[in-house]
Amino acid sequence: MHKKILVVGGAGYIGSHMVRRLVDCGREVVILDNLSTGSRRLVHHGEWVEGNLGDIDLLNRLFSEHAFEAVMHFAAFSQVGESMQQPLAYYRNNLAQTLVLLDAMLRHSVKRFIFSSTAAVYGEPLAIPITEDHACIPTNPYGNTKLAVERLLADCDAAHGMKYTALRYFNAAGADESGEIGELHDPETHLIPIVLKAAAGQIDHIQVFGTDYPTTDGTCIRDYVHVNDLAQAHLLALDALLEGGMSAIYNLGSSHGYSVKEVIGQAERVTGKAIPVLAAPRRPGDPAILVASSEKIKRELGWSPVYEDLEKIIRTAWHWHLKQAG
Ligand code: UDP
Repeated sequence: MHKKILVVGGAGYIGSHMVRRLVDCGREVVILDNLSTGSRRLVHHGEWVEGNLGDIDLLNRLFSEHAFEAVMHFAAFSQVGESMQQPLAYYRNNLAQTLVLLDAMLRHSVKRFIFSSTAAVYGEPLAIPITEDHACIPTNPYGNTKLAVERLLADCDAAHGMKYTALRYFNAAGADESGEIGELHDPETHLIPIVLKAAAGQIDHIQVFGTDYPTTDGTCIRDYVHVNDLAQAHLLALDALLEGGMSAIYNLGSSHGYSVKEVIGQAERVTGKAIPVLAAPRRPGDPAILVASSEKIKRELGWSPVYEDLEKIIRTAWHWHLKQAG
């Protein structure tokens, strides 16, 4: 049997870009997704299986039918605000179901795992840029569930030799240049797609959450990293694990911080449209500044992001946006 990669959550925003990258590299991919937040419109490649990652019978069937050399896990709820209102749903989906997946993997002796983690594991930053050895004190259930899985993985490595890479994303953004896949959330809560909706006249204005932060222009600063650069980092992590590498944790960011106002200004330049802005109160749980140090993955795995400036990132997101609208 050919060795394959199981991509759980491959119909989501980041998962779909991963599938595309894997297929472009000649890998055989099976996608498992329950479409709770993903979309069939983002699935163009790979072998499609609709189902739940917590479905033991389905997992047993999949692991018996295919020879997986690794599992990549993107299927999670990822909204901080929602996690504060529905913690049980987050712990069930993000932690309990991941446990079922890991259990199935171990029973079928599949011991390579790539995990979508998040900058939310750090909580309120004590130093910028954030390095991987920064204290992990999440400030919301979403971050708690991701950190809990990281700890579970470390324990599974110690007990069972499960080798994993946890990738802590900062702000994933942009879209594949083909315009075939991109960000498709409902409801949309992320800054760049909302800004582009305002540029396209689909909404009246963008609300800027907080204009009194201790930053140069008073708005929050974030580190935006292109989704294809994220996918490339996963590929490097996968190759490292398959070559016998040890478990590791890496930040994934661009190491450049941009304020909300800077993002809006850049989007106005890229789209050529005026974007109406309304100042709004701070959003609970938003730290003023989140910027990654991604030196560790550059040094150890040779990651070299190609979409380093915000203009390029927004340009690809706008291309996707126009294709959707058209
Ligand atoms: N933001 C905003 N208006 C919006 C959406 C987001 O001002 O309609 C701000 C948000 O407060 C944060 C930044 O944009 O400072 C990035 O938010 P996003 O939800 O995209 O990502 P997060 O940093 O929460 O993961």
